[in-house]
Amino acid sequence: MLSKQFIRLAREQNWRVDDDRISGDVDDLLFTILDSDHGITLILYLPSLLPATRDKLASYCLSNRKRLRLRDFEESDAFYFLRFRQGLFALSAERLISTIAILTALIREEQPLDPVCAVCQESCLPSERDYYLDLYCYAHAACIADGNASPEPEEADDDEA
Ligand SMILES: [Zn+2]
Repeated sequence: MLSKQFIRLAREQNWRVDDDRISGDVDDLLFTILDSDHGITLILYLPSLLPATRDKLASYCLSNRKRLRLRDFEESDAFYFLRFRQGLFALSAERLISTIAILTALIREEQPLDPVCAVCQESCLPSERDYYLDLYCYAHAACIADGNASPEPEEADDDEA
């Protein structure tokens, strides 16, 4: 479960808080924070990641791995996953929030915002945001409506575990 402290800080940032998930944006970079028995996972929506951005992210993750108690990180389709070691004793809410800000700045140094729909991969407006496969991302409302007509709209997939 997400700690009370975590939830309080997330609300201060105007992020959305659900039972086991926080979602929001920093500088229009959209992310989802998932809490599970395995620990906290931060998922950034990053379609069309440029090689320079990818290198910077990987280099940041590697050099801060210990400090952040980072278990692993990987890019999967349009999302970038950072998995932290279990529990908030390992990674404080403040540190996670500041890490999101640092990652956002790193990404924005290399590439400007270019919102792309997670479903159809076409451009969309920065205001077109939704949940696709339970992850916060840019998406056309019509694409999401179509996508959610397919199986298991509610089911959190745990394929990553
Ligand atoms: Zn679309």
